[in-house]
Amino acid sequence: MKDIKYRFLDLGEVNRPYAAQLREAACRVIDSGRYIGGEEVAALESEIAALTGAPFVVGVSNGLDALRLILRAYVEMGTFAPGDEVIVPANTYIASVLAVSDAGLRPVLADVDPVTMNITTDTEALEALVTERTRAIMPVHLYGRVAWDDRLADFASRHGLKVVEDCAQALGARSPYQGLHGSPMAGALGDAAGVSFYPTKNVGALGDAGAVITFDSRLAATVRALANYGSDRRYHNIYRGFNCRLDPIQAAMLRVKLGSLSRENADRFARATAYNNTIDREGIIVPMMSGAVVDNVWHQYVIRVTGGRRDAFRAALLENGVETDIHYAVPPYEQPCYAGEFDPAHYPVASTLAGEIVSLPIATGTSVADAAAIGRIINSLEF
Ligand SMILES: *Cc1c(COP(=O)(O)O)cnc(C)c1O
Repeated sequence: MKDIKYRFLDLGEVNRPYAAQLREAACRVIDSGRYIGGEEVAALESEIAALTGAPFVVGVSNGLDALRLILRAYVEMGTFAPGDEVIVPANTYIASVLAVSDAGLRPVLADVDPVTMNITTDTEALEALVTERTRAIMPVHLYGRVAWDDRLADFASRHGLKVVEDCAQALGARSPYQGLHGSPMAGALGDAAGVSFYPTKNVGALGDAGAVITFDSRLAATVRALANYGSDRRYHNIYRGFNCRLDPIQAAMLRVKLGSLSRENADRFARATAYNNTIDREGIIVPMMSGAVVDNVWHQYVIRVTGGRRDAFRAALLENGVETDIHYAVPPYEQPCYAGEFDPAHYPVASTLAGEIVSLPIATGTSVADAAAIGRIINSLEF
């Protein structure tokens, strides 16, 4: 194997442009003497509220906790009862599904759209999943592309469903459609959203971090209490809660990077455009590119290699110095922890995608010229 010329992701490279400011912010927290909660966390929460247009933000420990706290809060509030159903896309990272089962709810998987690779917004397909126990739908803005349109919004309202967005991959994306509460921003389209600041995400912490975004003050207060031992005031525990707080040192790191999110997202868009303009080959399907509205922040750039040649393609690309990845190699409904719960035959599109998808390098460290060069390698690749 030749040397790897194009790494899939180098987190050191991602954070290098911010290194001096990150050190300064870390020192600020060290000198403050405040290591739980406090000003850094509150300031980050306000900055995320301003970015998305939602009034309430609660910093939490990570993206999975954000989602499970939202669902658990709805249970504590009596909005959901144990065993109620939440519709989740079949093509997602397993955390979306884990959040539902952790809260004592039942994940009902919906197949995905072959073009957007997101949850189907086909009304008939969604209607077929509804039972008398359906209480919520969780659109996942996968790979950074907003999973939202008027059909999805109408479906949710018609059935009185809560809309809980998994916004782990799409902070900063803007839908061409209005959300339920008037904002078009991912994370503020539905009733509540979970965000992840895992280091590989478009805004990555230097460790684990996440946030809950919502329009519902009561939900926000319940999440905040649940994340703090279920305590609404000192030594008074109204819920059997957890410790899922956001560390101020991570909040400080994130505040350094959040201001550059729109530029970072624009850089990702430029790389995706270079790929789309270069890759031109039978059997390879490039992702859909939309025009003026930035409804995709390109967390991943995912192509499809058809004809059962995906693994050969990846191996040949690696021989040519290009590292790739798969998001995700094993779908949630095939994972051993859910053995016997789902029938893969119900998700034909997700199952096809699982065998064809390949993620190409798109993070900081991959230039527009690199993307074009990788595109040319793909066009002449023997595999
Ligand atoms: C990363 C991710 C999560 C989980 O976030 P963590 O911060 O890693 O817990 C949930 N859903 C999706 C779609 C993700 O990509």
